[in-house]
Amino acid sequence: MFESLSQRLQNTFDRLGGGRVVTEQDVKDAMRDVRMALLEADVALPIVKDFVGRVRDRAIGAEVHKTLRPHEQVVKIIHEEMRDTLGEAGRLNFSGSTKPHVIMMVGLQGSGKTTSAAKLAMYLRKEGRQPFLVAADTYRPAAVDQLVTLAKQVNIPYYEEGVSAKPTDIAKRGLEAAKNADASVVIIDTAGRLQIDDQLMTELEEIKRRTNPAEILLVADAMTGQEAVNIATGFNERVGITGLVLTKVDGDARGGAALSMRAVTGVPIKFMGTGEKISLETFEQFHPERIADRILG
Ligand code: GDP
Repeated sequence: MFESLSQRLQNTFDRLGGGRVVTEQDVKDAMRDVRMALLEADVALPIVKDFVGRVRDRAIGAEVHKTLRPHEQVVKIIHEEMRDTLGEAGRLNFSGSTKPHVIMMVGLQGSGKTTSAAKLAMYLRKEGRQPFLVAADTYRPAAVDQLVTLAKQVNIPYYEEGVSAKPTDIAKRGLEAAKNADASVVIIDTAGRLQIDDQLMTELEEIKRRTNPAEILLVADAMTGQEAVNIATGFNERVGITGLVLTKVDGDARGGAALSMRAVTGVPIKFMGTGEKISLETFEQFHPERIADRILG
């Protein structure tokens, strides 16, 4: 596919000769390679610019470690900066919330919300909690049926009212049903759209107001490209997200959206989806290293 960044940097530095200190000219040429690699990985342009600026500052004048060649030193700095930007895997945080804790799943249609809701329920059950699913996506025709099928398949209790009731009412009544069922965590699957729109955001704000979630997880497809910044900012400004779930990490995408979304929202990436199958094997805690390697190629 693409030439790896490491390979590309090696070629650049070979051309430059290269001493024991990374010079400004080295860095300038290397940063062109970094910019290209990040854009090919679909990191959004403003994020690429910030990232390259930070790497440049760290790299200029950096002593080349005895055991490293200059391009390896720059690759090391890039990896460190990438890890710092991606952050550690975030854990679910229920502090300050009372049981049953509410998790709202939000995101664009097709991002993998419903699938991730079911996987998350399995994950919570494995942690020893009592999860409960609520089908509040009345917008996408088959979403309620899909959630019910998945809930039955993995044997998780659920609440649904079809698609004619208001999502906010379903969410509220679902929460009551979860309390009656002695659930400890309620996962609400909300509606998405093909793009952000005002009606959707108003609905999500209302569900938030009525269910007081401990976590609002934005589910995003790893294939999301330059739109990642708008999507993450749009959801964050209106509903205030607390974490990200990156799906379809098993696909070909290099996953630059992870870096873009994390950078603009500052919220941690908590989980990754790595397959269509509803299973614990396809829902993992976020691994910054793995995504960093993929983005950098
Ligand atoms: P929603 O509209 O956000 O609820 O999206 P869905 O949960 O229905 O997912 C949309 C499509 O993406 C479905 O075909 C899912 O099987 C698929 N999908 C979801 N998560 C993953 C994943 O981690 N990997 C792969 N390969 N496919 C996924």
